Amino acid sequence: MGYNISRYGKALQKDGIAVNRLDKHLKPLVDEERFSLFDQISRFAANEVAPHLLQWERDKQLVPDHLIEQLGEMGIFGLPIPEEYGGQDGEMIDLVLAGLALSYWSPSVAITPGAAVSLGINPLLRFGSADQKAEHLEDLAAGRRMFAFGLSEPGRGSDAANPQVVAEKTDNGYVLRGEKCWSTNAAWASHVVVHALTDPEGRNGHRSTCFIVPRDRAGVAYQEMEGKTVWPLSSTGSIAFDSVEVSEDEILGEVNGGFRVMVTTLNGGRLFVAAIALGSLAFALDKTRQYVQEREQFGGAIGRFQRVQDVVLEMDLALERNLSWLIQLVHRYDQGSLDREQAAKVKIDCSRVASELVQDAMEVCGGVACLDEFGLARHAADLFVTRVGEGSNKALMSQISRSLLPEIADQLQ
Ligand SMILES: Cc1cc2nc3c(=O)[nH]c(=O)nc-3n(C[C@H](O)[C@H](O)[C@H](O)COP(=O)(O)OP(=O)(O)OC[C@H]3O[C@@H](n4cnc5c(N)ncnc54)[C@H](O)[C@@H]3O)c2cc1C
Repeated sequence: MGYNISRYGKALQKDGIAVNRLDKHLKPLVDEERFSLFDQISRFAANEVAPHLLQWERDKQLVPDHLIEQLGEMGIFGLPIPEEYGGQDGEMIDLVLAGLALSYWSPSVAITPGAAVSLGINPLLRFGSADQKAEHLEDLAAGRRMFAFGLSEPGRGSDAANPQVVAEKTDNGYVLRGEKCWSTNAAWASHVVVHALTDPEGRNGHRSTCFIVPRDRAGVAYQEMEGKTVWPLSSTGSIAFDSVEVSEDEILGEVNGGFRVMVTTLNGGRLFVAAIALGSLAFALDKTRQYVQEREQFGGAIGRFQRVQDVVLEMDLALERNLSWLIQLVHRYDQGSLDREQAAKVKIDCSRVASELVQDAMEVCGGVACLDEFGLARHAADLFVTRVGEGSNKALMSQISRSLLPEIADQLQ
């Protein structure tokens, strides 16, 4: 049986009364030009993503090619890329604003340019050679090319410093063997940045090297991971390397400096993940505010119950507080003064607070909240990834505990 969303409240309008909490909290935090960028992407998402989202998800398809092209034309893939390579010459703050605007409707649409830029383009900008930048940046800026981030493996998740993918030195370069998994954007990736073991005897954190490997190179096999219940429109692939030859020119960064490339990249990635968690929270807040004023039980709107108001208020507080914290840290990242612990903390907190509150929001909306067309169930499911992706919250908390409890750091598990 098909449902019409209007049965459960009017469709959210960008200028409708219910929609303005993200706009309201964001406006004082960024300058006019940046707010206008956010507003433009927000309107694009409301017009080009929101009306089709449900159908795309029910059809079990990935982000359609035309949408990737549109995002490319809007310049979203090129946000941090210098103008000389066809980019927008922007900063991380611009990508974070795009993430907030897109994830309000769909975290899995948002992560497509989000991962392409924060995990694909940023390491090339930071660690790439002049030749590598000249070869790739123009196409990456236009969205014609994408780099996938090959850190995770079937046997290496949180414990990523010692990959089981091995790069063996040869006379001409290296030969790669092994498998990466959970690679976001694998379906569209022209290249994979592969983190591989190059010096098993080296110091911890100095045993691996990153390689930029074309996905169509002989011996590379990609498969979309099946049965994924989160980020339905995002591509997530396994990529296997069967004696794949790579040259020294394809090394990203330094030999045995691969782990540094990966962990430095994750700082930016975590800010983006925090942003998409807040985009979900903002959607849930607006949807809940709207619904509890319309839905009547016991002779009046359910929003008149104080327990319902408390949930709405907690969501609004959490959005305002965490957004302000996130934007402050993103500015620090852009100034080069954000440390790893801060990036991890904001990812941990935005993801867990948003997940808990979206569950509460579903409860105060009642049974309707489990319908896909209502939208909250999508965000609740997708928020799971923000807790586990780019470093599981619990593993990151273990790392942070070492600096909190330095006297017993060597005893901590
Ligand atoms: C949809 C999706 C997209 C992804 N995209 C990418 C991508 O593009 N590229 C990429 O490389 N990876 C990607 N990942 C992988 C992601 O980064 C890993 O899932 C994450 O690093 C955790 O690894 P794991 O799932 O293997 O969990 P494990 O490492 O097996 O950990 C499982 C659980 O054990 C506990 N745990 C582990 N270590 C510790 C510790 N030290 N202290 C306390 N508790 C601990 C935690 O509760 C943790 O959640 C993606 C994952 C998902 C789900």
